[in-house]
Amino acid sequence: MNTKQTKRIVVKVGSSLVTNNGEGLDHAAIAMWAEQMAALLRSGHEVLMVSSGAIAEGMQRLGWTKRPQEIHQLQAAAAVGQMGLVQVYESCFARFNLRSAQVLLTNADLANAERNANARATLDTLLKLGVVPIINENDTVVTDEIKFGDNDSLAALVTNLIHADLLIILTDQGGLFTADPRQHADATLLQQAIAGDPALEKMAGGAASELSKGGMLTKVLAAKVAVQTGASTVIASGREPNVLTRLLAGEQIGTRLVPPSTH
Ligand code: GLU
Repeated sequence: MNTKQTKRIVVKVGSSLVTNNGEGLDHAAIAMWAEQMAALLRSGHEVLMVSSGAIAEGMQRLGWTKRPQEIHQLQAAAAVGQMGLVQVYESCFARFNLRSAQVLLTNADLANAERNANARATLDTLLKLGVVPIINENDTVVTDEIKFGDNDSLAALVTNLIHADLLIILTDQGGLFTADPRQHADATLLQQAIAGDPALEKMAGGAASELSKGGMLTKVLAAKVAVQTGASTVIASGREPNVLTRLLAGEQIGTRLVPPSTH
């Protein structure tokens, strides 16, 4: 990857990472990412964050130990939890003198020409102001990401929307493995492949946990969408120290899914 040309970056973090496997919001992890984002902003990058975790945090606040089946209960949990989510982002980002903004979007918003233009203009303006937008799905009005994806597809659509150069999907796995490492001891980490290669979808099939509804398949599909506007996608562990700054310094971490021409 030519890191000099990587200006706009979308960083997506999933529920199991943000909540440390459901044990409440992981302030330390969020502060770690904030510190790295501050460094990236200082070196001239523009960064947006797509974060899940509202339902997981809402479940905690409501004292629910088991994820409900009822969709309106999940939406209610998301509404409760979103308060906690932005509270933690706001305070962690402020520690590193970063300003943040809450943006709630849906896939349908982005499919509508007028809303799409408004969302793009707002995000552009925030980025030019040096603010880090913290984006989540607007779970009150839709259920796309609740049912499937845990914001992976939203992150890809945001990447297209603002023509980001790079989508970084942070997860609790080291990247994309040739098979599910939780079931196959001989699975190996794939370092680089072409985004949109159908073989990747086979490799990534299944493998979602209780907390994250995505698994690897939705990440591979997100890379396929992101590449439509020329973006590369990196799938890497959010627990890797300084993962963001090291990636942008050109280090090979996790799996990099690149446009065909750069392979
Ligand atoms: N937008 C949801 C959240 O932030 C999606 C994740 C999920 O389905 O658990 O919680």
